[in-house]
Amino acid sequence: MEAGSSFPEKLQSRCCIAGGGPAGMMLGYLLARAGIDVVVLEKHADFLRDFRGDTLHPSTLESMSELGILEELLKRPHQKISQIRARIGGEDILLGEMSYLRTRCRFMALMPQWDFLDFLAEQGRRYPTFHLRMRTEVTGLIEENGRILGIRGNTPAGAIEVRADLVVGADGRDSRVRDCSGLTVENVGAPMDALQVRLSKHADDPELFFYSDRGKNMVTIDRGDYWHCGFAVPKGAAEKMRARGIEEFRAGIVEIAPFLRDRVTELRDWSDVKLLTVRADRLRKWYRPGLVCIGDAAHAMSPVGGVGINLAIQDAIAAANILAGPLRESAVSTEDLAKIQRRRSFPTRLTQRMQGLIQKQVWRGLGKSEPARPPWPLRLLERTTLPCRMRTRFIAVGIRPEHVRTPDVYK
Ligand SMILES: Cc1cc2nc3c(=O)[nH]c(=O)nc-3n(C[C@H](O)[C@H](O)[C@H](O)COP(=O)(O)OP(=O)(O)OC[C@H]3O[C@@H](n4cnc5c(N)ncnc54)[C@H](O)[C@@H]3O)c2cc1C
Repeated sequence: MEAGSSFPEKLQSRCCIAGGGPAGMMLGYLLARAGIDVVVLEKHADFLRDFRGDTLHPSTLESMSELGILEELLKRPHQKISQIRARIGGEDILLGEMSYLRTRCRFMALMPQWDFLDFLAEQGRRYPTFHLRMRTEVTGLIEENGRILGIRGNTPAGAIEVRADLVVGADGRDSRVRDCSGLTVENVGAPMDALQVRLSKHADDPELFFYSDRGKNMVTIDRGDYWHCGFAVPKGAAEKMRARGIEEFRAGIVEIAPFLRDRVTELRDWSDVKLLTVRADRLRKWYRPGLVCIGDAAHAMSPVGGVGINLAIQDAIAAANILAGPLRESAVSTEDLAKIQRRRSFPTRLTQRMQGLIQKQVWRGLGKSEPARPPWPLRLLERTTLPCRMRTRFIAVGIRPEHVRTPDVYK
């Protein structure tokens, strides 16, 4: 990376990535490992943010294994889940069984996202061509004759400009890059939001992932000493719930997960509850000359199935596979960028479609007072091996899993 001496600070790199989330950090690491000069700009000072996606699926663990860093990754604190079980209307249902998988890891690792991002940053820093700039917020794009030539941003020391052969928008679902790019966003629709809380975990708690009954639905993610719970509510209903008071919300949790009765008072008031506004959308076109978007910036994912991080990682691997050669030659064409969308669009659309179907099912039941019953196809197919294998593969590995094809040029 070349630095200029004038003000604003001016940098030149082969590739400038906006956003140090799973998509941006993974792409930055892969390109640097392939010997390409890359700068990742992250607006926060660290990766410490609560209530973010924490589910590393076997597809992501497989990629880590291909990169030779899986063992190192699994030294970080995490929980393993090898079965996904739900309690629907008092009946326990097996949604996924990882032992069927042919992947190296037949489990999902629940790892705080900051640990995962810290790990990717640490791996990236092993390469001289990896540059991570924290506290650097992208504010706009540099454009000339219809081509994106770089980004403008702000740092605590003042303004910054980074010129690059390619700009990658990996700045998440509220992407500044995509706002500035003029690319068209299609709303896929999400009928509900989620209220997120943490409640302490006890050794004898049931190891279930999802609870549903009498119009209430809640996901419980094992975070070691506490449960990260996501309670589904109809879109826009959170305000009315707040007005009715925290006691009613606590009672709702106890109704579907009675084992939490002795600790719902840990939710002292609404300040202990975080609203996740669920959004699902995608760009019609992910690129324009000099720019491509990946991860949530290209397709904001609903939290259903906990696939967002994993899809972002898959996008990053596909992008690195396609771009490493052209970036090395300083010859990235718009066709190269189109190839990324062609490769990743189908898995994204299909995953969003499946999430939409599940959300519809949950939404239909929201607020109903009668006891729930597992949907009949699930009851019929629960104990049959093939459908369970297919379900598990869809959630854990996804469609069109990517393989790392970029080299480690420093080996
Ligand atoms: C509350 C919540 C819970 C979720 N739970 C799960 C889950 O359990 N499992 C799962 O797989 N997925 C989950 N998801 C989705 C998942 O977190 C995302 O799909 C995934 O993180 C997308 O990765 P990304 O790198 O594309 O974007 P992000 O993770 O959003 O990363 C974008 C990065 O860009 C930075 N940034 C933003 N704007 C700028 C700017 N202007 N300049 C510089 N930097 C910027 C942000 O600080 C952030 O670090 C959840 C999402 C939310 C919101």
